[in-house]
Amino acid sequence: MAANDVDVLATTHTCAPAALSLARGLVVNNGAAGLPNFAGQHFGLTVRVAAAPHPDALFGAERDGLHVEAVPVRYDRDAYLAWFDGLWPAASPAAVSYRSRIVDGADDRLEDALLGGFRRGPSARTDAPPRRSRATKDDVELALAGLVYFEDVVDDSSCLHTAGEPSTIQVNVTARCNLACAHCHVESGPHRTEAADRAVLEAVLAVAARPGIDTVDVTGGAPELHPDFAWFVERASGVARVMVRTNLVILRDPAYRPLMDLYARLGVEVVASLPNVHDAQAEQQRGGGTFDPSIEVLRELNARGYGRDGEHVLDLVFNPQWPVLPPDQAELEAVYRRRLAALGVSFDHLFAVANNPIGRYGAHLIDTGAFDGYLNLLIDSFNQQACDGMMCRRQLSVGWDGRVYDCDFNQALGLPVRREDGGDRTVFDYAADPALPLARPIRFRNHCYACTAGSGSSCGGTIVRG
Ligand code: SF4
Ligand code: SF4
Repeated sequence: MAANDVDVLATTHTCAPAALSLARGLVVNNGAAGLPNFAGQHFGLTVRVAAAPHPDALFGAERDGLHVEAVPVRYDRDAYLAWFDGLWPAASPAAVSYRSRIVDGADDRLEDALLGGFRRGPSARTDAPPRRSRATKDDVELALAGLVYFEDVVDDSSCLHTAGEPSTIQVNVTARCNLACAHCHVESGPHRTEAADRAVLEAVLAVAARPGIDTVDVTGGAPELHPDFAWFVERASGVARVMVRTNLVILRDPAYRPLMDLYARLGVEVVASLPNVHDAQAEQQRGGGTFDPSIEVLRELNARGYGRDGEHVLDLVFNPQWPVLPPDQAELEAVYRRRLAALGVSFDHLFAVANNPIGRYGAHLIDTGAFDGYLNLLIDSFNQQACDGMMCRRQLSVGWDGRVYDCDFNQALGLPVRREDGGDRTVFDYAADPALPLARPIRFRNHCYACTAGSGSSCGGTIVRG
């Protein structure tokens, strides 16, 4: 700055405010003018350079009679949100990147931006307390440990092993997702980039062609976002029944809409997440502006025969918003059917699944002080009868990097199937040796109580019925 005779360097549009007073001059960046910049605040910031201080400044410094300040750009948040939602659909990059910041504020604290020499101004007094930092994956694992060990409460020791050779191969093709749901146990979101390469997908197809495998279950993230997704689904349909787990919203995007025609042509089973039939509750879990697009996609699937003609199967998935067990599946299905019929939507089955207290959901439970209560509920509700139907007993779950797991919960926790020599088993091992058994002992931890609480919970919903 000295070399260029600059007294004040004021910059904008890097989205994170910063201010520093140097011996020779002042450096200040406003962050975002049209978005909140700090926790608990709902206004943007701009930099003002003037001869007199501003009564509403958030922070500032004075140098040689010049006042350099960040001042709030206040706006009507509700009107802004309505305008934003009209402009940017739920799955659009802008909505994914910015909507939660408009609604909740940013994570940063004001002191993070004040790097030296700037002081808090009058409007900093109304600064809300910073948001609590999120619990980490380690915190979740620690919270799960040291309770009543799951294996010790299972009466039938045969349930600790697969029921012979599994009939389903599940593959998590990508951790990337267009949404970032509060209940997501795999912590998917637009920021994730992990994806299976062709070698992994080819190996999955080789294993899927084994005589004992009848189903390929494709999941993610949003599996549709994988660049080879359509190719993989087409190939997998040649060797087994294929089911795809979708968040629906992604299929509103014109780039992914043609996949509905592909599904219909191949007879792919669609398992669609719809955590609530009431828009406000559904959007609390999945983000604003996600409910109406989901309903529109369901109507489009119906128009292709899904949930209507008995051939194109459309199943929906409910999971509770709160740390409670899911309600009775049959009763809830009746509610879904009634409510969705009023919206012009039909479906085949509803799966009511319990939230597993790991990943983003586990961290949220810790942050809100609800983790222990929920885990105790799962333990207290342990149902011996659900053990036989635990999904790990009849499936193999393949991660994006080819490692193999008992289920996608174990995948999220980093608990791969072990080889005899202690190394991680991969799908390449099975593809290379068709005689290598898929049957195996299962790796349990205390998150497994989520599968056996009450009526039990699996990818196909309630385990103990009737
Ligand atoms: S729960 Fe499903 S839709 Fe939501 S972020 Fe996770 S993978 Fe995506
Ligand atoms: S969490 Fe996985 S390993 Fe544990 S019981 Fe459920 S399906 Fe089986």
